[in-house]
Parts: sequence; C-alpha cells; structure tokens
Amino acid sequence: MVMEIKYYDLEKITQSFEPYLSESVQSVIKSGWFVLGNHVKVFERNFAEFCGTRHCVGVGNGLDALKVILMAYKQLYHWDNGDEVIVPAHTFIASAESIVQSQLKPVFCDVSKDDYLIDANQIDGLVTSKTRAIICVHLYGRLCKMQELQHISSKYNLKLIEDAAQAHGAVTSDNQRAGNLADAAAFSFYPTKNLGAIGDGGAIVTNDDDLAQATRQIANYGQIRKYYHQHQGVNSRLDELQAAVLNVKLKRLSEDNSKRMRIAKYYFENINNRYVNLPYHCCFAEDSVYHVFPVFSEQRDKLQQYLAAKGIETIIHYPVIPSKQRAFYPYNHFNFTVAEQVSSQELSIPLHPLLSQEEVEYISTTINQFVC
Ligand SMILES: *Cc1c(COP(=O)(O)O)cnc(C)c1O
Repeated sequence: MVMEIKYYDLEKITQSFEPYLSESVQSVIKSGWFVLGNHVKVFERNFAEFCGTRHCVGVGNGLDALKVILMAYKQLYHWDNGDEVIVPAHTFIASAESIVQSQLKPVFCDVSKDDYLIDANQIDGLVTSKTRAIICVHLYGRLCKMQELQHISSKYNLKLIEDAAQAHGAVTSDNQRAGNLADAAAFSFYPTKNLGAIGDGGAIVTNDDDLAQATRQIANYGQIRKYYHQHQGVNSRLDELQAAVLNVKLKRLSEDNSKRMRIAKYYFENINNRYVNLPYHCCFAEDSVYHVFPVFSEQRDKLQQYLAAKGIETIIHYPVIPSKQRAFYPYNHFNFTVAEQVSSQELSIPLHPLLSQEEVEYISTTINQFVC
C-alpha cells in the first residue's frame, strides 16, 4: 500500500486554524485600515513577549528583516560600504544576500559536522580589521552555539545577529528563546515556516532601544514623523492582514513545536538503515524546533526517487550552497568541505504538526526498507 504524503500540507494546516483565521481576515477588511495599524501593534507586542525581547518591529519578509538590521547598524555605527559580515557557508541564500544588498561584504564560514551550523572554531581565522558582524543561522530549527558566538563577538567587538527564520520558539537549555540570544534577530513568516503568514511577512526583535528605533524608521522610508525623512530607508512593513493572521497562529506555536519535536523523537527512535544517516549523531536535539528533519545519504538522489515512488515527498535543503551559486560568482572558487558535503547528502523528510501517527510510521518503515 502506498500512502501519499506531502512534504508540508499547507492546505490542511491552514484549514486547522479555521474559523478563527477567516474571522480575523474579515475584521481587517471591515476595519478599512491595512498598513501600520492595531493588528501590527498587537502582534509586535505579542511576538516580543513570546521571544522575551523588549522590541519587535514588523517588516515585509525575512530577507528585509536581516537587511534592515544591517542598514541600521551601518547608520548607527558608521560602518563603511564593503565592511565584512561573517555568515555560514551552508544556509538559505537570503542570509548572504542581505549582506550584499546592504553594500557589505559576506565572508563565508564553513559549518560544523556536528550540527551543520556555523563553526565557531573557524571564525577567529576569518576576522579582519573590517569585520563588523556575524550572522548566525539557526538552520533546520536548531540553535547555534550561542555562548561561543557571544564570546567571539565580544572579543572582536562584533555585532551578533540571529537569522531565526527557521527557529521560532526554539529554546536553549537555560530557557532563552530564539530571538533573545544575540544583539538582534531576524524572523521570516513565509507561509511554510514554523510560524507562517498567508503571504510574506517578517520581524526584527531586539533588546536594543536605538536599533529598534532605527530599524522601525528605515523599514518605513526612513521617516521620523510623517513626511520627514531622516535616513535613506525602504518600504518594508508587515501589513495588517498578515499581522491579524499571525496573532491567531502565534497562540498555537508552542503546541505545534512540541508536536514537531515528538515526531522528530519518533524518527530518531525508529529510523534505522545503514544507507541513511540521522542528524546530530543520532541524538535528539532539545534545542531544535525541527523546522526541517534532515537525513543524509551518499545515495541521496536514489533515496529521494525511492521515497517519491512510495508517495513520500521530500526536499533538498539546499542543493547548491550560496558561494557556489552563479549569483555569487566571485566566491565560486572557495571550498567549504562540510557545507558542500551536507548539501550533497541532505534530504528533508516530511515533518509538520499535522502529520498523523500512521503517516510517521509509514515514512519510517519505508525509509528502513531502502536498499542501494
Ligand atoms: C526563509 C528564510 C529566510 C528569508 O525569509 P523570507 O521571508 O523568505 O525573505 C532567511 N533565512 C533563512 C534561514 C530562511 O529559511
């Protein structure tokens, strides 16, 4: 028997928030107020409280959240064009593009074999007199080694920025949430993220009053009051409709993350195949919200085809690392051994809060029957 299992069932997930989602959307339409209103204010308050930070600034998407943070730091600290920002070699392209788009220079750092996240031990060797910041990415939902990163950042007086686009609600062992682990953090509410809108959305969270003020102004045309423009800015605002949807969905985020973690635990306990390696040395990571459950195989493409034939949809995160993309051609000759190995062997299997026990069992059993 073949079961059809989507990688991420957005239709089913969206439906599960009804009728509250539609009611919330209706209330925005009725109000006749669509940009920078009360829903955004309420969401910013709720999400700051959720993260444990003083401030939250809604923006248009996750890329802009990173970019606006960098633009604000450039202004506040007089960074020059071409100053350097360290970023992991294995990440979604946005982490690196935000740097280029704010006229700064990305410096890629290979990732660690243990967690596929920025390798703190290699950062010392990359710091120059022009280094201004580190963007660490909580990839797949797992938190970076923040104590080590904080130590390096303060040693060289660098700003530490979390790209938390995949880690809404992830907690450290001492109960600090993603977003509250560095100088500033960027979130995306792209529909398939752990907290997703019904379109694009993003947020910046921080405990830094000056940064909060500067990012709020930059994201709204550099405006200090209506029609007075202090800085060069952009138009990147979270709109009322998305904020209203996010206010509904935020209420269930912790519960949904717990469900993801329970499914991940099941995979760790039940997937067992010599051709398929489990992540994190087969140990369940408490500090991940499992945005992605990555497995690794030297026969990755074969595994993907096999699972597709069995009705299981999978995705590769990511088939080409940023430095090997045509868009980053000046970096194409650099080699990042671990990042490239991860990208050539990774396969993300379905994991979302509404996967049934039956589906999770089918996925595990099917993977266990894979032979090369
Ligand atoms: C999704 C994502 C982003 C960008 O978010 P958008 O809202 O799509 O712009 C940035 N970084 C990472 C790691 C992401 O997964």
